[in-house]
Amino acid sequence: MKIIDAHLHFSNSEGLKQTAQNIGQLEYSAAGLCREFKKSDIVAGIVMSTPRRNTDEHSDYVKERVIEDEKIDCLYTCVGVNPEELIKSNRELVYIEEELRKDMTVGIKLYPGYTPFYVYDSIYEPVYDLAKKYRVPVAIHCGDTQSPLGILKYSHPLNIDELAVKHQDVTFIICHMGVPWIMDAAQLIAKNHNVYADVSGLIAGNEEQISNIKNTRLYVELIQQGLVYANRYDKILYGSDWPLVQMEPYIDFIKYLIPEEHHENVFYNNAKKVFSKIKSGD
Ligand SMILES: [Zn+2]
Repeated sequence: MKIIDAHLHFSNSEGLKQTAQNIGQLEYSAAGLCREFKKSDIVAGIVMSTPRRNTDEHSDYVKERVIEDEKIDCLYTCVGVNPEELIKSNRELVYIEEELRKDMTVGIKLYPGYTPFYVYDSIYEPVYDLAKKYRVPVAIHCGDTQSPLGILKYSHPLNIDELAVKHQDVTFIICHMGVPWIMDAAQLIAKNHNVYADVSGLIAGNEEQISNIKNTRLYVELIQQGLVYANRYDKILYGSDWPLVQMEPYIDFIKYLIPEEHHENVFYNNAKKVFSKIKSGD
């Protein structure tokens, strides 16, 4: 089965390199990424760009899809938004629009929780206008933050409800299904025609850690309850959050959570529909 990984990370960030090392058993490099793609028949991957600019961390990989001198055609990106820069000047918006003109930029990514702004704050309005203009979805980090310095009231999935009602013609993606607020995310998917969710990053760890969680009934049921309640498998997107997990065991984990008749939608068709700029994997 062909797979689109709708949520992964790949940059020169020292933090990510360290995370990958701590997880172990995966090679955080272009070669390592390609090997995992091939092994699991992943035909396209969407890299969530960070909102940091002009730092070493953002001497980003995907700029020209060239990573470590290797060209990887099946990588796309969502351009990260820095709300603090949006307030300061027009430069941030110009940058976002420049990125959106590129074929490889298939969406926009917001990081509430890591930045202290609600997604319905008026500072984001010009960004949503760009989403409309370029017909790209807005992926929104939701739920837990990796850093204890994150502020969770901003990343709660319920904040997306008002936004989705206001912008009926923009597609929003609740990243990580808002974990641990899975039920809130499920209600939003069920209620709003323009709200989707990705199932990336529901757990982090190596094969053994994933297997332990897979055998933890209550954790599995926590996620399945939301999936079953929403009953909108046409709006659930597969994503890994690599390098927080190895791809193969994580794919197995998500397959385990989702009834088989919905696999083609969740692992491929839904992403193809939402990220309509994706060309590969036809
Ligand atoms: Zn992520």
